[in-house]
Amino acid sequence: MADIHPGLPDDVLVAQLIEAIPTPIYYKDAEGRYIGCNAAFEAYSGLSRTTLLGKTAYEIWPKDLADTYHAADLDVLKKAGPQVQTGEVVYADGTRHQVIVHRAAFFREDGSQGGIVGVGWDITDRVRAERALEDQLQFAEKLIETVPSPIFVKDQDGIYLACNSAFEEFCGLKRKDVVGKSVFEVWPANLAQTYRSADEALMKKGGVQVYEALMRAGDGTDRDVIFHKATFKKGDGSAGGIIGVFWDVTARKRAEQALRHSEERFRRMVENAPFGVLLTDENDAISFTNRRFEELLHYPPERMETLNGWSALVFPDEKYRAEVMGQHARDIYLMRSGEIEASPVREVQVSCGDGIVRDMEVVITVEDNLAYWVFNDVTVRNRAEQALRDVLQAEALHDPLTSLYNRRYLDQAMEREFTRAAHAGKTVSVVMTDIDHFKKVNDTFGHDCGDKVLQAIARILNTHIRKGDTACRYGGEEFTLLLPDAPMESAVERAERLGELIRDLSVSCDGMNIGRVTMSFGVATYPAHGDTPEKVLKAADEALQRAKSEGRDRVARAYEFRPAP
Ligand code: GH3
Ligand code: MG
Ligand code: MG
Repeated sequence: MADIHPGLPDDVLVAQLIEAIPTPIYYKDAEGRYIGCNAAFEAYSGLSRTTLLGKTAYEIWPKDLADTYHAADLDVLKKAGPQVQTGEVVYADGTRHQVIVHRAAFFREDGSQGGIVGVGWDITDRVRAERALEDQLQFAEKLIETVPSPIFVKDQDGIYLACNSAFEEFCGLKRKDVVGKSVFEVWPANLAQTYRSADEALMKKGGVQVYEALMRAGDGTDRDVIFHKATFKKGDGSAGGIIGVFWDVTARKRAEQALRHSEERFRRMVENAPFGVLLTDENDAISFTNRRFEELLHYPPERMETLNGWSALVFPDEKYRAEVMGQHARDIYLMRSGEIEASPVREVQVSCGDGIVRDMEVVITVEDNLAYWVFNDVTVRNRAEQALRDVLQAEALHDPLTSLYNRRYLDQAMEREFTRAAHAGKTVSVVMTDIDHFKKVNDTFGHDCGDKVLQAIARILNTHIRKGDTACRYGGEEFTLLLPDAPMESAVERAERLGELIRDLSVSCDGMNIGRVTMSFGVATYPAHGDTPEKVLKAADEALQRAKSEGRDRVARAYEFRPAP
C-alpha cells in the first residue's frame, strides 16, 4: 500500500480520518465482537470505546436488535462485497432510530476474514418525511374524493391527469374516459375551445382564475358552472399544470333570473297601474312615486321633488288634516304590531297641484320601515254616484207620466208647510181637482190620447203655480195643489183661473182634436178646514165632490170646519 500522505504513516492517517468522520463507524471481528468505533459512534450510542471492546451485540443491545445485527453480520461474512440494509439502533437517550447500515467484510494480510466494518446513516427524519408525504398524499386524495364538487387536474398541455368521483358523476364519465385525454377529446368543440383558452391564459399568468362557462352534464344538458382554477408546480419548481373545481349554478341563475323577471313585472305593473303608488320612509319622506301618482295629484316630477310627505295636500284645513293623518298613523301602528295587514280604504280630500280638490281613496300597507300608499281618484265616481242618488230620489218623488211631484212628495211637503204655517200663524190652501168625464176621453180617443191630455193639464198646472207652491198628481186624473201662505179666497181665484186655462186648452192626438176638457175643483184651507194635512185634504176632496155633483167645471169651497162640540 502506497503512502496516502507523505511523512505520515498510513494507519495513523486512516485512524484519524475515521475518527473525524461525523458518521458512526464500528468494526467487529469475525466472531461479532466489537473491536473498535469512531467518536461519532460513541456520541450517538452513548457508549465508550472501552465498554464496547470485546463485547458482542447481544451484550450491548436489546435482543431484537442484536438478532438483526447478528443475522446481517453473518450475511456479510457469507457473501462477497458490501451490503446495505435498513435497520434500527438505540441512541444514548434510549430512543430508537431508523438507519441505513453499509456493512463490508475486511480481510487480514494473510487473506483470512478479519471481521466487519459498518457505517450507519440516520434516516429517521427522511423516513418520517416520506411517511408524512405519503400520509399527506393519501389525505389529499381522500379530501379530493370527499369534496362534493367536481375536481380535475390537467398537465400544462391541458391533458387530464386526474379527477374525483363528483367529476365522474357530474359528467357521466369514468376516470378512464378522461385521464390522459385533452379537452378536445372529451368535450364538444365549442366548450373545449373555451376551456383551452382559459387554461392557456391561466398557465401564462399563473395564480387563480374564476370564470363562468357551460359544462355538459351527464344527462346531455349544458349547465351553467363557475370554474375556480389554479396552477400548480412540480416538486422541482417547474410548471405542473392546472387544478380546477367547478360549481353548478344553473338553479341559482335561474332563480335569480326568475326573481329579476318578477321584479321587472311588478315594477312594470306598478309603473303602469291605474292607481297612484307612493312610498314613504320612517320620516315620512317620499322615497318613490309612480307615474300615475304624479298624474293623479297633478304634480309634475320637478314639483314632486319639493313635496315633503303628502300631508300638506290634505284639504281643507288643519283640523281635518290632523284627523286624517292621525287615522293613518293609527293604521300604520296596527300594521306594525301585526294586528292588521292593510289599512281599511279611507277617503281623503286632497288639494291637487292644479288647485282642484279631489276625493282620493287611500290604502296603506307597511313593510320594514317603508309605508306603501295606494291612491285612487274617486272624484268622478263620487260625483256620478251623487248624481245617480239625486236622480233616484227625484224619481222616487215624481210621477213619470207628467213629471209632477207624486203623492209621496205631497205628503212630505204638506207636513213641512203645515208645521211652518203653524209656527208662522199663516194659512195653507189645498186645491183638489179632477178631470170631468175623463173616461169619455179615453173611450173616444184611446188611452194614449188620454195620457196626452193628462200631460197637457200637468204642464198648465206646473207653469201657473207660484214659487213655493207644489203641483202634484194625486192619482189617476186627479191633481192636488199645495199653496202655502194662500188664504181661501186667493186659492179659489187661482183655481178658477186654472179652470179657464184648461177650458181653453186644445189638445190634438193622432190628427184628431180632443175638444174641450173641463175640470172640477175643491178648495180647503188650513187651519180653517182642519188642523192636519189629512183633515184639510179630506175637506178639499169633499168640496171637489160637491163641484162634481153641482154640475162640474166649477170650483167649490170646503165647508167651514167646526170642532166637535
Ligand atoms: P167624473 O167627471 O165623474 O170624474 O168622470 P170620469 O169619467 O172622469 O170618472 P172618474 O174620475 O171616476 O174616472 C177616471 C178615469 O180616468 C178612469 C180611468 O180610465 C182614467 N184614467 C185614470 N188614470 C189614467 C191615466 O193615467 N191615463 C189615462 N189615459 N186614463 C186614466
Ligand atoms: Mg177621478
Ligand atoms: Mg174624472
